[in-house]
Amino acid sequence: MTDRCIFCRITGGQDSAPVLYQDDQVVAIKDIAPQAPHHVLIIPRRHIPTILDLTEADNRLVGHVYQVAGNLARELGFSQEGFRVVVNCNRDGGQAVWHLHFHLLAGRRLNWPPG
Ligand code: AMP
Ligand code: ZN
Repeated sequence: MTDRCIFCRITGGQDSAPVLYQDDQVVAIKDIAPQAPHHVLIIPRRHIPTILDLTEADNRLVGHVYQVAGNLARELGFSQEGFRVVVNCNRDGGQAVWHLHFHLLAGRRLNWPPG
C-alpha cells in the first residue's frame, strides 16, 4: 500500500470511486475516462505494479479477476453481446497507472487489432 498510488488509495477507501463490486481480493470501479459505454477497472487490492511482477503465488488472484470479469459481464448485461478484458503494460502497452488493473470494456464493437 502506497499513499501516492491512486489505486491503493481507492481500494483502501481513502479516495472515493463508483464501486461496482468488491471482495477481499479485488475492487471493481467505473473508469473515470471511459473508452466504451461500459468501462470497468478490476483492481487487485494488493499493490502489484505491472503484469511483470506477478508470481506463481498470484495465479489464484489472476484467475479470480477473470471470474469477477465474467460475473460483472453477466450482471451488467453485456455477456452475450461480448466484451474485452485488457491489461496494459509499460510504455508501449499504454500503461498510465503503475498498480495492476484489468480493463473490462463493452457496449460497442471493439476494434481488432487494437490501436
Ligand atoms: P492504464 O492506461 O492501463 O494504466 O489505465 C489507467 C486507467 O485508469 C485509465 O483508463 C484512467 O482513465 C483510469 N483512472 C485513472 N484515475 C482514475 C480514478 N481516479 N478513478 C477511475 N479511473 C481512473
Ligand atoms: Zn497501488
